[in-house]
Amino acid sequence: MAITQFGKRVQTQSDKEIYFISDYRDLDIKKVVISDGLILDYADKEACFTFLKLIRSSFIESIYLVPVFILSLNDDVDDFTRNLSDGVVKSLQEESFEGSFNVIYQRIRQLQTSDTNDLVIRIQNKVLRYYYTRQRRMAPITSVKAHTGYTYPLLGLHYQNANTQDMFKLIDELEAKEYIRPRYEDIVHLCGNCYSAFLNYREVCSKCNSTDLFMENLIHHFVCAKVAPESDFISGNQMICPKCNKLLHHIGVDYDKPSLVYTCNNCGHHSQESVMEAACFNCNTVQNVDALIERKINNYELTVIGEEAAMGGLAPEERREAEFPGFVGFSTFNIFLKYEIERIKSTGKASAIGVLSLKAPSTMANNLGIKYQNVILEIADFIKNATLATDILSFINNNTFLIVSPDNDKLRLESTLGNIQKSVQKLLDSNIEDANITVKIKASTIDNSKGHNELINDILTTNPGA
Ligand SMILES: [Zn+2]
Ligand SMILES: [Zn+2]
Ligand SMILES: [Zn+2]
Repeated sequence: MAITQFGKRVQTQSDKEIYFISDYRDLDIKKVVISDGLILDYADKEACFTFLKLIRSSFIESIYLVPVFILSLNDDVDDFTRNLSDGVVKSLQEESFEGSFNVIYQRIRQLQTSDTNDLVIRIQNKVLRYYYTRQRRMAPITSVKAHTGYTYPLLGLHYQNANTQDMFKLIDELEAKEYIRPRYEDIVHLCGNCYSAFLNYREVCSKCNSTDLFMENLIHHFVCAKVAPESDFISGNQMICPKCNKLLHHIGVDYDKPSLVYTCNNCGHHSQESVMEAACFNCNTVQNVDALIERKINNYELTVIGEEAAMGGLAPEERREAEFPGFVGFSTFNIFLKYEIERIKSTGKASAIGVLSLKAPSTMANNLGIKYQNVILEIADFIKNATLATDILSFINNNTFLIVSPDNDKLRLESTLGNIQKSVQKLLDSNIEDANITVKIKASTIDNSKGHNELINDILTTNPGA
């Protein structure tokens, strides 16, 4: 191992720049950019975790996406560290990490540059890209340190407790745009004021709100029908009815305990109906349990649309819509598609949906930069002119254009797309040297047998005809 300023270079067959870091003092986070991967020593747990958090909370893609492995000889790596890393290894041998490393490395290379100043879009982009390159579900972990009891390790790094609501909003937005698909894990009850899960549930007196209650069983004596608190029946070691003076024998036979009754130590009020309240340990708000926020905690996986979005990079929709005149944003497109399916159900007609996608090596798109963007704009313009005025046009990213053609059949749309395909291919070949970009198309019938999700997944996944 050669000594460098940034940990020690790990010897690999593949000549990748992988560094082993065990001394966390004076580390320069920017150096992460020059490495292909890192192995962090867990011997100093705190420092290891702090540095890992620093990496994952960055907004610079070549920092937050870097594959990071944790070196630990014992099986004692905490959940949070484990979750933010790409695995725990027991040695610096390449075999111990190369499998996971290669998968992530390949996936990172599929990503196209994307930039936006919109903070929410940057976080959404980051979440999609992180989980796309990891091929993992975005799963919550429980932690007493987490404000809501559950935390999403990567996403949570960007939110203070006070911004919990914004974090949920971001997740819901990704779900609404169908980039991610939820799987239920649990439900939590959170303070209606601050979203904390650290709550103190207790019954209070319905008259004076005191929590100082004496709870006891209510006794119902069958023989004489007397109903009174248990304490009224107790006489030494026995239970004797205060009304008929008979000895109580067996529960269920001569008496039972139908419910609880409380006596308020503050105001003396007796009642069977207490009120359940929750006091928040974080902000001290006392609230009726009905006022608590109920939130489903899911884990999420990327949909096909989400994977496309991860590769191409998200941009604010308004900007894209302005960039591509005549095109609508993807969420608007989805709404159109849903309406179209409903319309077809009632009219019995058929419409068609199609896709035109460019398969370009991402390095090429990145290298060409603005020139590539201009070609894409020309393609968008071309698609608009070659389609009908009634067609709905959209895009998922720079490489994937979608079209809904109402009352048009699949074959006709296919032939329109075929013509566009030929011209676009010509346009690409004449504008970009050694373009190596292929244009694929596919069309499908919109009938009432498939939902909009299924339709979009279908045209995106099955190999489009060349
Ligand atoms: Zn009271
Ligand atoms: Zn009695
Ligand atoms: Zn609170």
